[in-house]
Amino acid sequence: MLSYLSITSCRVGWANARAKHTLHHFSSRIRQQQQHLKRSAKMKRPQQFDYFLVLDFEATCDDKKKMNPQEIIEFPVLKVNAQTYEIEKEFRQFVRPMNHPKLSHFCTELTSIQQEDVDSAKPFSEVFEDFKEWMEQKVGLDKECLFVTCGNWDLLTMLPSQCALDNLPVPPYCKRWLNIKRSYAIKKGEFVKGMMPMLKGLNLQHIGRHHSGLDDCKNIVNILRALDDLDCMFLPTYYTE
Ligand code: AMP
Ligand code: MG
Ligand code: MG
Repeated sequence: MLSYLSITSCRVGWANARAKHTLHHFSSRIRQQQQHLKRSAKMKRPQQFDYFLVLDFEATCDDKKKMNPQEIIEFPVLKVNAQTYEIEKEFRQFVRPMNHPKLSHFCTELTSIQQEDVDSAKPFSEVFEDFKEWMEQKVGLDKECLFVTCGNWDLLTMLPSQCALDNLPVPPYCKRWLNIKRSYAIKKGEFVKGMMPMLKGLNLQHIGRHHSGLDDCKNIVNILRALDDLDCMFLPTYYTE
């Protein structure tokens, strides 16, 4: 009886010691992880902007010939908080092309933009007025903002040529932007052609429909978030004038 009790209590004692050891092991691991998180939170440099304005135009196109002139048909911009990466506001309008009002089959297939979407839309001059008003009222011209695009085409080529067609000036805030492909190249050591390889390289799932301007913007936001996690500092990569 005595020996049975002593064996049992010995077993209980050993089990207790093991449980204590396991508990100690886990709590010290949690402490280590917390310290690591505190350290990385401290080391992470804050972004230098209030907002990122993620923009991705879609425009008239054809598989056989170059459009002349090419015109914007979707104008989406996401206002992203540069500290939390939350999408705080969205501007999105389709645009009615004036020179080639009929979309090619190729264009509809590529962008998923339907003829009805552009037929019922405002022309560029009016959409651009709405966008500028959105910039004033929903973003604030006193805020430090950085446009973010995938490539330079949107703000280097498409916006200036569309503004020239409509005889409108390009606002100063649209003359500076970050080409996200550059940030990706700096972090990953590889300059890629488009958005899809960046998503793959960052193990991100593609969301929505490729070449829908709004969905492309949402994917670019996910790329921004992932690059920020890699401690990427976002600064302008292009200035015009
Ligand atoms: P993206 O931002 O890559 O969706 O493309 C912007 C615009 O570039 C599209 O709306 C088209 O006008 C044009 N584009 C993109 N890919 C192609 C393509 N494979 N062939 C012809 N035009 C294209
Ligand atoms: Mg694009
Ligand atoms: Mg696009």
